[in-house]
Amino acid sequence: MSANLYLQLAARMPGDGETFLRMPDEYVWTYGDLRQWSGRLANTLVSLGVGRGDRVAVQAPKSPHFLFLYLACLRAGAAILPLNTDYTPREVGYFLANAGARIFICTPGREDDFAEIAPQAGVSRVLTLGEQGDGTLIEASRGKGEAFEAAAVAPNDLAAILYTSGTTGVSKGAMLSHENLASNARVLVDYWRFTGDDVLLHPLPVYHTHGLFVATNVCLMAGCSMLFMPRFSAAEALRLLPGATAMMGVPTHYLRMLAEPGLTRDLVKGMRLFVSGSAPLSAETHREFEARTGHRILERYGMTETNMITSNPYDAERRAGTVGFPLPGVEVRIADAVSGAILPQGEIGVIEVRGPNVFRGYWQMPEKTAQEFRPDGFFITGDMGRIDAQGYVSIVGREKDLVITGGLNVYPAEVEALLDALPAVRESAVIGLPHPDFGEAVTAVVVAADPAGFDEAAIRTQLGHDLAAFKVPKRIIAVPELPRNAMAKIQKKALRETYAGLYSG
Ligand code: AMP
Repeated sequence: MSANLYLQLAARMPGDGETFLRMPDEYVWTYGDLRQWSGRLANTLVSLGVGRGDRVAVQAPKSPHFLFLYLACLRAGAAILPLNTDYTPREVGYFLANAGARIFICTPGREDDFAEIAPQAGVSRVLTLGEQGDGTLIEASRGKGEAFEAAAVAPNDLAAILYTSGTTGVSKGAMLSHENLASNARVLVDYWRFTGDDVLLHPLPVYHTHGLFVATNVCLMAGCSMLFMPRFSAAEALRLLPGATAMMGVPTHYLRMLAEPGLTRDLVKGMRLFVSGSAPLSAETHREFEARTGHRILERYGMTETNMITSNPYDAERRAGTVGFPLPGVEVRIADAVSGAILPQGEIGVIEVRGPNVFRGYWQMPEKTAQEFRPDGFFITGDMGRIDAQGYVSIVGREKDLVITGGLNVYPAEVEALLDALPAVRESAVIGLPHPDFGEAVTAVVVAADPAGFDEAAIRTQLGHDLAAFKVPKRIIAVPELPRNAMAKIQKKALRETYAGLYSG
């Protein structure tokens, strides 16, 4: 079997007439369309001078053609570099230059924003791709053949470069190989029991590992079809769920669906699987969702650099507040963040991972890459976690989010779980802020269930029943909404900046 991921997916794809992707307006793209469009676009890329190993940067809206372009890159042996549509031209300029992108594909109407930036970054052509399959890339593909022989790549050859969100310091390009992506897709299809009969509800952005690789590769490798939402809306998800068998989403999707009275057992009776990841799903939401629908959400854990690492089981207990077991073929261990010593079972430390899923390193940053791997090949995720006696992994926060107050460690996730369980609190984020006495002070920012009746002192008293005094937030601030990115991750860095002076006055 060829190492080219496209060929591995193609080997499992059904016949040309079968449905690949259905849009909310009921427009249907078949597997035949997928083969033809990805072939035509692969020929177009080659005609634009894209060769094996070249980087193709894309900042374009979610559309079926975005996926065809991804597959075209695989077929041509080029590496796709998908970019968050929120990035500004200045930010995009950094990625283009850093990655040495050969061509750049942006949203129609935005070419002028890149007229200077792209050539300065060394990009040879700027083309466009719109939400409706419009744009100069599509124009350039007219008359191009549909047949294309997939490039013979080695397993370690690059399939994609995904820039990390860069919430700390400079954004780094994670190099993902054909085998990184293929091995993970194979494991997930099996673990989550995907078959050609599934219909996957796809509400995720496609510039991120979750929507582009987990959802799309799993669907293609199972040869199933997807209901493709250009963007998430809870009402639209509820309209589509009766036609689906599985959904992959982020915690915010589940929270928003729970806010809709229409989410009932009856509505989801055809569903067999709800998957959540990319950010922590609170035990509260897990339980509420089960009470409402009868389904236990299957929570999994992964990151751009590693693809998926752990998953709750399909058949055995899906434990709320945990991310389950290491996937088959993936090794996970817990180490002391500073010394790197492997910790005994049950202790909290940094999660480290090794396996065919783990990326090839950061693009042109050998020192940064070396810093984040142990000599025996384990990647240091930067997530703090623990493994319980049954082997379930829990995440207690990012290493950088750990609060050290008066010399004592406080894991935000522990305090957040207790806050979220209080009726007065809808959701919470716990951060450390500079404090003259304690170094850092544990501080909670919460969305109150009843903002008018919000009583900070009462909440602190309640927390004091369950938590050592040093873990109880010194202040609890109520806000209308927590800052989140598109993948539902709370932006703690933004909160730390906003409230930096809270204790200095
Ligand atoms: P990204 O590279 O954008 O996918 O972000 C990866 C990070 O998201 C991980 O390092 C975790 O901090 C976080 N993450 C992903 N899945 C989960 C999960 N199920 N629970 C908690 N955090 C998660």
